[in-house]
Amino acid sequence: MESGQYSAMKLRIKYMYENGETSFAELIMDSGSISELLNRAEYVSQIAEYDRKKLHEYGEIKDEVAAKEQALNLEHDSLLALQETTRAKQQSVEQLMSSKQAELKAVQTKIDSAQSELDQYAADIKAQEDQMKRIEAEMKRREEEARKKAQEAGKTYTVSNLGNISFKWPCPSSSRITSNFGDRESPTEGASSNHKGMDIGAATGADIIAAADGQVVISTYSYSAGNYIMIDHGGGVSTVYMHCSQLLVSEGAKVTQGQVIAKVGSTGYSTGSHLHFGIRSGGSYVNPRNYVSP
Ligand SMILES: [Zn+2]
Repeated sequence: MESGQYSAMKLRIKYMYENGETSFAELIMDSGSISELLNRAEYVSQIAEYDRKKLHEYGEIKDEVAAKEQALNLEHDSLLALQETTRAKQQSVEQLMSSKQAELKAVQTKIDSAQSELDQYAADIKAQEDQMKRIEAEMKRREEEARKKAQEAGKTYTVSNLGNISFKWPCPSSSRITSNFGDRESPTEGASSNHKGMDIGAATGADIIAAADGQVVISTYSYSAGNYIMIDHGGGVSTVYMHCSQLLVSEGAKVTQGQVIAKVGSTGYSTGSHLHFGIRSGGSYVNPRNYVSP
């Protein structure tokens, strides 16, 4: 037996003896002969060798477990980091969403206010149209009265009409038509509203003249038309001048053809300095291009 093995055996025997497991010591002590003792000692040494192997294996397993534990810790750390990143991403997505929602809300508010503005324009245009019709009816009634009086007095009374009025171009400084009668109005005025006159692009402050002799029946401001004038020419014919910067004649005034009645502007529903010129006959608008040219 080698000395190393022998001392290991001794240690093993000592351990077992001290720990109350005396069976190996007894096994050796109870040997009947030297050869039997040696055999038994060899047997015990083999057990010691087995234990050493087991101890070595145990050490390896312990190292392996430690390595696995470390790997699991690393994995755990990286999962925690990933969770943190995910949480941060989620937070930034939530922020983006709430800012988009705020934007959407602002757009909706704009749409709502544009819609209410549009409703206001529509209501204003309708009220204006009604007023014009009332005035036209009143003018017609007065004209009929005058005609009757003239007839009773044996005088001739000429009733004017679209055909016998010779209109003058209402904006002497410009012949630039930017929008014709019947053109679809810009989207804010709604799809159903067609352009009821023609637009003549001109500088702010340019002269606007009466297209024909007549009487001023409207000289006021409206939300949609801005500063505007309506002149009655008799026979249910009238002319309309809108978006003026200045009005130079008052309601009731008699005007002569070519007289400066207002200045070009961009008041009311208007996107630039221009004169909106309209001709009415029989209670509705007609295409002014058929009756006047620059
Ligand atoms: Zn216009």
